[in-house]
Amino acid sequence: MAAQLIDGKAFAASVRKQVAVHVRRLKVHYNIVPGLAVVLVGEDPASEVYVRNKGKQTIEVGMNSFEHKLPADTSEADLLKLIDDLNKDPAVHGILCQLPLPDHLNEDLIINSIAPDKDVDGFHISNVGLLGTGQKSMVPCTPLGCLMMLRDHHGSLSGLNAVVVGRSNIVGKPMANLLLNDSCTVIIAHSRTKNIEALCKQADILVAAVGRPEMINADWIKSGATVIDVGINRIPAPEKGEGKMKLVGDVDFASASDVAGAITPVPGGVGPMTIACLLANTVTACCRANDLEEPEGLTA
Ligand code: NDP
Repeated sequence: MAAQLIDGKAFAASVRKQVAVHVRRLKVHYNIVPGLAVVLVGEDPASEVYVRNKGKQTIEVGMNSFEHKLPADTSEADLLKLIDDLNKDPAVHGILCQLPLPDHLNEDLIINSIAPDKDVDGFHISNVGLLGTGQKSMVPCTPLGCLMMLRDHHGSLSGLNAVVVGRSNIVGKPMANLLLNDSCTVIIAHSRTKNIEALCKQADILVAAVGRPEMINADWIKSGATVIDVGINRIPAPEKGEGKMKLVGDVDFASASDVAGAITPVPGGVGPMTIACLLANTVTACCRANDLEEPEGLTA
């Protein structure tokens, strides 16, 4: 393996440590405790695990965690009422509504009912517009985590060629906007892109957010490029025993790491950064709500 490993687990721990320092500062100097409200509708097992982890890490950095678990048949009106209450609650600085929502709920309507200043997921249409126009916004957590790791590795990203594979609203598009705001030259590739392999091979920075196990291999990667693998795919692992599964990214790590200059692993790369950035966004939202200086290095 020639590539330098970008250790997202260690990086996330350092972000959480910085968040904890700011949380302490807010408590000691201003008697303010940042609060994060997480709303979970239904009993999706994966969502329950995420929400549990979020709550645990929120408390570990010294913030207040407010969990709202609602039954799967919750009406849109009841969910909107809860969000309205959280919007008005001064102890709540961040609100996250765990996705996906049950089919009978209009996801766009719910997300856009969250006060933009408390939208720590960065999915509200106002935050999308602010990011797209290079203004101060709440930034989606997964792309923010990728940006932090890229800035840490490269220093300035200005003038670098970046290819983002994937154009989802939660990863691909905000990632592309963040890279553009940092003066990269950005290409967004997707399922209809022609000559995708050749395009990827031009990238100094290649971000894979596709959801296809190990789709991108060494042949797609320019020598020395930085590869950020957002994908989380569960595939059979017969080598571990019958019926066993393992997590892999969208990048074939073994071959890619012979060519890349630096690469994130899966697991242990982008994944741990997502919750760390959620905590960072909450402390940022809390500072903004109280007209206090924002912590440096914890946002775009
Ligand atoms: P989506 O399914 O919403 O988007 C996938 C994107 O990949 C689409 O834009 C799609 O193109 C594109 N795509 C699909 N197949 C191909 C292909 N063969 N060639 C090129 N492009 C293709 O996924 P998400 O953005 O939500 O997530 C992407 C991955 O990141 C998933 O594995 C997900 O689990 C993971 N993830 C990880 C997170 C973390 O914390 N680490 C957080 C969020 C996601 P088109 O638009 O044309 O259909």
